[in-house]
Amino acid sequence: MYTDWLIVGAGLTGSTLAERIASQRRESVLIIDQRDHIGGNVYDEYNEYGILTHKYGPHIFHTNSDEVFNYLSHFTSWCPYYHKVLASVEGQLVPIPFNLNTINKLFPTQMAARLGDKLITEYGYGARVPILKLREVEDTDLNFLADYIYRNVFESYTRKQWGVNPEDLSPAVTARVPVLASRDDRYFQDTYQAMPQYGYTNMIRRMLAQPNIRVMLNTNWQDVKEEIQYKRIIFTGPIDEFFNYSQGQLPYRSLNFNIQTHDQNKFQDAAVINYPNDYNYTRITEQKWLTGQKHTHTTTITEYPIPHISGKTIPYYPIPSEENRRLYGRYDDKAKEISDTVIFAGRLGNYQYYNMDQAVAQSLAIFRKLP
Ligand code: FAD
Ligand code: UDP
Repeated sequence: MYTDWLIVGAGLTGSTLAERIASQRRESVLIIDQRDHIGGNVYDEYNEYGILTHKYGPHIFHTNSDEVFNYLSHFTSWCPYYHKVLASVEGQLVPIPFNLNTINKLFPTQMAARLGDKLITEYGYGARVPILKLREVEDTDLNFLADYIYRNVFESYTRKQWGVNPEDLSPAVTARVPVLASRDDRYFQDTYQAMPQYGYTNMIRRMLAQPNIRVMLNTNWQDVKEEIQYKRIIFTGPIDEFFNYSQGQLPYRSLNFNIQTHDQNKFQDAAVINYPNDYNYTRITEQKWLTGQKHTHTTTITEYPIPHISGKTIPYYPIPSEENRRLYGRYDDKAKEISDTVIFAGRLGNYQYYNMDQAVAQSLAIFRKLP
């Protein structure tokens, strides 16, 4: 079997590159995936109750990139959606990211006013302060606040999610959810925040609907690599797997999802409730908040973080740390030696904690640089 391009992985990365190559260069693309569906981790489907459900955990689209938003808009229309998250802290449900409203909910009035004023004076109204930065502050009140937030919001959640303390990860991980010196309760502050009107799978199906793209599901690259002839390959699976783990295994975190449908219209008071301190799950998402779907029943997804075991669990999260970056660097060096024929891309191919928009942005950048 011959194809100009073999793309391993029909997630957002593989699908973006397939679409660009097929539509702009008019070359043939064979895209394979070991799963029985397209979309990778953004895959959504209607469950047995008819509720649109994100099979691999809640996915909310947000970006500051005009290019990414305009590109995806060729394949979907959008429903505007501002994502809001509450966290269970000391018996109360409070807004996350931690902001002035959260302070007001958790502390007595005068104290809250003092802490809020100090935060604004130190960093400026609207500032986004990573918790690990806030912890370096010298002011006694702000130091108390930093310690409170660290202990009640970040410490246990991070240990559950990653299996290590916040300090043992790249600071960028906890900086994804900064402390906000404002009253902005939205989880993201990006220019574009929206959900694809008919879901992610529908969007990806439209990306791949081209005469010169062939899709083969239930197909593991390991099983077909000798049979398919191609000019070039784009690999969006785990880079360590591609090289037979020759440099050692890159660590990932995995998740178990408990997806339940309840015989009630509404389950909880926000799209997502985080449980930093209790239970062995991190968060519960109620699907209908994300999609705006109306239904008599409601579906929830509870996320239980677990260690990843190669071949047994899905490698959902690369673990960003200095040590892992060095190990990835060794694979990247090997990748450079074969860059004429193999391109590594995506969250697993690049071992990067990409959001959806970053996966698309990187794919568009790769496409632009193709000789
Ligand atoms: P993937 O979706 O992982 O696709 C890789 C594909 O390669 C998979 O389908 C896999 O089956 C296939 N594959 C791997 N190895 C092989 C092989 N050997 N042979 C054949 N096929 C193979 N981003 C956001 O922007 N907003 C969010 O709210 C958000 N929430 C998330 C929640 C969770 C729980 C997770 C895990 C991620 C979330 N993300 C979110 C990130 C988002 O999922 C990724 O950015 C995006 O899916 C990356 O796409 P990808 O194509 O690079 O990787
Ligand atoms: N985090 C936390 N408590 C929270 C929310 C986030 O400790 O209530 C930390 C945790 O380490 C988490 C990281 O911030 O993994 C990034 O959170 P995000 O919601 O972006 O994670 P994702 O949606 O990618 O799982």
